[in-house]
Amino acid sequence: MMQQYLALKAEHPDKLLFYRMGDFYELFHEDAVKAARLLDITLTTRGQSAGQPIRMAGVPYHAAEQYLARLVRLGESVAICEQIGDPATSKGPVERKVVKVVTPGTLTDQALLDDKQENRLLALLLHRGRLGLAWLSLASGDCALLDCDVDRLMSEIERLRPAEILLPEESAPPVLASLGIPVRQMPPWQFDADTARRKLCELFGTRDLDGFGVAEDMLAVGAAGALLDYVRLTQGGSLPLLAGLRVERTSQYIELDAATRRNLEITETIRGERAPTLFSVLDHTATSMGARLLQHWLHHPLRDHARILERQQGVTELLACGCEDRVQQVLREIADIERIAGRIALRSARPRDLSSLRDSLAQLPQLAAILPDGPLFVALQSALAVDDALTGLLQAAILPEPSVVLREGGVIASGYSSELDELRAIQSDCGAFLAALEAREREATGIATLRVEYNRVAGFFIEISNANTALVPAHYRRRQTMKNAERYITPELKEFEDKALSAQERALALEKLLFEALLDTLQPQIAALRLAAQAVATADVLASLARHARDYRYVAPEFVDEVVLDIRAGRHPVVEAQIDDFIPNSAQLGTTRKLLLITGPNMGGKSTFMRQTALIVLLAHIGSLVPADHAVIGRVDRIFTRIGASDDLAGGRSTFMVEMSETANILNNASAESLVLMDEVGRGTSTFDGLALAWAIARALIEKNRAYTLFATHYFELTRLAQDYPMVANVHLDAVEHKDRIVFLHAVEEGPASQSYGVAVAQLAGVPREVVRQARRKLVELEQSSVLRDGQSDLFAAAAIEDVLAEPESHPVVEQLQAINPDELTPKMALELIYALHRAL
Ligand code: ADP
Repeated sequence: MMQQYLALKAEHPDKLLFYRMGDFYELFHEDAVKAARLLDITLTTRGQSAGQPIRMAGVPYHAAEQYLARLVRLGESVAICEQIGDPATSKGPVERKVVKVVTPGTLTDQALLDDKQENRLLALLLHRGRLGLAWLSLASGDCALLDCDVDRLMSEIERLRPAEILLPEESAPPVLASLGIPVRQMPPWQFDADTARRKLCELFGTRDLDGFGVAEDMLAVGAAGALLDYVRLTQGGSLPLLAGLRVERTSQYIELDAATRRNLEITETIRGERAPTLFSVLDHTATSMGARLLQHWLHHPLRDHARILERQQGVTELLACGCEDRVQQVLREIADIERIAGRIALRSARPRDLSSLRDSLAQLPQLAAILPDGPLFVALQSALAVDDALTGLLQAAILPEPSVVLREGGVIASGYSSELDELRAIQSDCGAFLAALEAREREATGIATLRVEYNRVAGFFIEISNANTALVPAHYRRRQTMKNAERYITPELKEFEDKALSAQERALALEKLLFEALLDTLQPQIAALRLAAQAVATADVLASLARHARDYRYVAPEFVDEVVLDIRAGRHPVVEAQIDDFIPNSAQLGTTRKLLLITGPNMGGKSTFMRQTALIVLLAHIGSLVPADHAVIGRVDRIFTRIGASDDLAGGRSTFMVEMSETANILNNASAESLVLMDEVGRGTSTFDGLALAWAIARALIEKNRAYTLFATHYFELTRLAQDYPMVANVHLDAVEHKDRIVFLHAVEEGPASQSYGVAVAQLAGVPREVVRQARRKLVELEQSSVLRDGQSDLFAAAAIEDVLAEPESHPVVEQLQAINPDELTPKMALELIYALHRAL
């Protein structure tokens, strides 16, 4: 048996092997040690191998799922090895085989999946500065490809949030190691593009991949090949039916880099918690399909105004007819059709999957009927119109409440198969037959306490207490001896037993056969089921957005092609839901006002104001209404944020390094259509360094990137930028000091702030009284000794500031260039000038 085990283990060296022995899955050697640690199960030993005791740990077969779920959550993969031979007939160990490999990215079991989260497997291929990505959700059948620049690696991973990543061996970018996502390395040939292309054509039954929009040289195709191989391996050799192949383009969505997704706390807080986030606040979905789609929308804001308006109109139409609650009431009766369809495609659907599918399908016509009739809803209604015959078939085939597992029977409805009905009739006649036999035998033997019974161990028997042994007829044969009784069998009872037991066995086998045939019959319906699931999810998200918009008085933003972001009385969707009296604030940006320089005390509300602006822009682009009185939004291509100090110690970068690399990314990539949030840039280094950098960065954003910028800073010196650049406007948040207390007003006003209130905030935070008192004294001292400008105290000497902020001194070469008129130069003069300039340099 150990030989058999070791041979199987050799095929799955990097996975835990669950080796089936009777009612347990056993783990041996290193696997046992690891599993004992991870699952907190007992580690034992048994027998010996090479003179050493064999370490062993096991989990009961019926509880395996919960252990699997824990292992997978920890990023482990498990190979499930079952007994496939018959223990009764085999000589030596029973034949065993790995029937399935459970890995974090290839889950389809309901018990192992997170209802609200998409579970994706991602394959990556890097080649000459380009990156090919192919990802797949086995549960939904969604498969997509994307080619992009290699520097987008992290932002794509953050967007897709895969459960598992596949890579060619020896090409793992070190950054991946710090993510905590399990990475599998596969031989490079599994990423071969030609083979992959053939495999994909075979899978979809097409001649080429042109119809999917796959370009000739797409890198992602090779990655998709590896994806398919891996899925085949984990699913015991079979490939699932995919919903199709999508090619994504980077320009389809507003781009959010990895830091921005984190900073905006879309589906996870900065601390990694699930609430409060934009999603947790907005999510009123009634189905898990809807919850997953809402998350997807939030991470994929659209750029195409027409598509956005289609969704927005959906929300407003629901609000207009006041039917959002009714829609959700129906939705609550609908099961996860998408994942059930996925399990049908993999032929791993269970009886209860089909009964929930049946009950859910019955709800679809009602859902379609109560949706309003805008253009988007017409499309949803047609997707919801699933063939009646399918519902009819499921109603006819499956019992109203089928049992949980097929092997116990009780799944197929009566009337579906006459053969099954007959076999079941034999079993149900059983009770009557036994009662009749008991009465007859009591009469014949004169033993009033004689009982005819059945149990699983002994089968059928006639039980007679020891007191009556003398009365037992000669044709009774002894079957079992009990403490106070004997159990007998008669030829008649034996004949009945054979018939009944074989009927039961045959009925179970037949039910299994019928169920599998039913799964086959359902295969052609999978595409339609997936479409219906998508429609259900969309209706759910729209209704959820409508409810939130209604409860929090959101308005429909207007989209224009001009350069403008005009948000009147905007609110932060998450903060507003947490506190009672949120102060609304406006943000107005346009061609002549493109950078808002925000000053004000700590805790004044600067970050909140900046984030709310970004979140409103984001919400607008998923088709939601927004928390404001009025909003006009021009084209936006990307949102960038540089917020807060976060060390990336795992990645080996200090706070300041993180700050600067995020800033570099912004300066290199932000366009005039980007929205940039800069919070306290330059804070991570010495004062002069920081001020100088902040100043230069702000200038670059105005002059070069010309992006919509919200720039919060505690360097008051920067407020002077507004004098030099008409595109810069100063705004500030204020506070009032009242009897040693400080009250934040949270209202954004025009103009620069007048005070920083740092000491007051320190006091509020509980810094000891004595320290606060000393700080106040020191502050007065510093203020008196420093230069007072614009009535505002300043820690820096004026000369130093002038040094930092002064325009660069003029250069003779520049002066010379300014003096010439190119139109008046002859070629010869021009050449001489170049020599002269070069010398001067
Ligand atoms: P800053 O970035 O200026 O240090 P924050 O934006 O972090 O300040 O805000 C500090 C706290 O003030 C927030 O946690 C929130 O509770 C409150 N706050 C911010 N803006 C508002 C507002 N507009 N209305 C009400 N409370 C606010």
